[in-house]
Amino acid sequence: MTATAPSSDHATLLELYSDPDTCPTDRLEPLPLVEEPAFVSWQQDIPRSYLGLPPEEVDQRIRAARAALGERLVVLGHHYQRDEVIQYADFTGDSFKLAQHAADQQGIDFVLFCGVHFMAESADILTPPEVSVVLPNMAAGCSMADMADPGDVYAAWDEMTAALDPATRIIPITYMNSAASLKGFVGKREGIVCTSSNAPKTFEYAFERGEKVLFFPDQHLGRNTGSEMGIPLDEMITWDWRLPLGGNTREQLERARVILWKGHCSTHQRFSVEQIEQARAEHPGVNVIVHPECSWEVVQAADASGSTERIIKAVNAAPAGSTWGVGTEINLVKRLNDENPDKSVFCLDPVVCPCSTMYRIHPAYLAWTLEGLVQGHVVNRVRVDDETREWSLVALERMLALP
Ligand code: SF4
Repeated sequence: MTATAPSSDHATLLELYSDPDTCPTDRLEPLPLVEEPAFVSWQQDIPRSYLGLPPEEVDQRIRAARAALGERLVVLGHHYQRDEVIQYADFTGDSFKLAQHAADQQGIDFVLFCGVHFMAESADILTPPEVSVVLPNMAAGCSMADMADPGDVYAAWDEMTAALDPATRIIPITYMNSAASLKGFVGKREGIVCTSSNAPKTFEYAFERGEKVLFFPDQHLGRNTGSEMGIPLDEMITWDWRLPLGGNTREQLERARVILWKGHCSTHQRFSVEQIEQARAEHPGVNVIVHPECSWEVVQAADASGSTERIIKAVNAAPAGSTWGVGTEINLVKRLNDENPDKSVFCLDPVVCPCSTMYRIHPAYLAWTLEGLVQGHVVNRVRVDDETREWSLVALERMLALP
């Protein structure tokens, strides 16, 4: 086992990370865990022996542990993971595709989920109870999911249902990016889970059963989906959980068809109409495609919008020589550019940083958790309690059963 001292570049990287006008992504090389500038806020109970391991040794140990576990293990990797991690994935995808892969697995003992906490929870719900789902770094959460605190959502539900005519039916839809307890909450109330791949179908599901939709946590995906379905903006209100009636009047609430939780994705909120205009000025003929977690204005200004899977398909299927300005997470955009050498693919935000919580899955955490599994010791297991599992499974299965 080899440990190295922090490199002399560490101070330079720290300086780069603290500069709000730049992003060091392009200059990042695989680093020992202890040299990652943000490691100080990541899961700290990893044994010290893993901290300074050089990337080559981490790689060798991950491969050895995977070989020892054989078919007992499946590794799932989200598109936003860095290259040093995604290379180990048996399956890659967005949260919807990964949920399907988790549900399809047979005869395995372990799922190593290289994504963020809510995705690992969904994998735990969708796999048999004897399968252990492991999140390499328990500090890999999602800032958007954290914006919908279950207590705040329950209180908002009570407040809006009390303010409306008791005959009014509200169907709750939660984005996959939410706590398992909120998936259980919607499951109990005839609601459904959605992803950016299937949000319009979940709106159809909801409007077949009720007059209003409560959508959380991402206001932008909800607004973009409602807009795509022809619902006027003034029939979609934003619910700010810190304000009485979410910051709305009773009349606005009564008139609204869609109630949007005031959450957002910090990564996608950075994209702007000005960036699209600049891309068009600098790259005549550019195709602009953005993720629906971007604001409504950005989605309207783009040529197309869609889930990460849709973005990947569009770029892969495009003719050679085409140019693409993409509004989503930088690791995915860089990979798309690498995998399409006959096209030019760039990120609309020249200083966009990776999803900071996805980025917490460092290879050293993979080595730690996988070597634990080889030794019969499950570390970082993500478990959903039985009652939450029952109702969130109902909501997830409603989604998976959509045509
Ligand atoms: S990209 Fe945004 S929504 Fe996705 S995991 Fe990161 S913070 Fe959450």
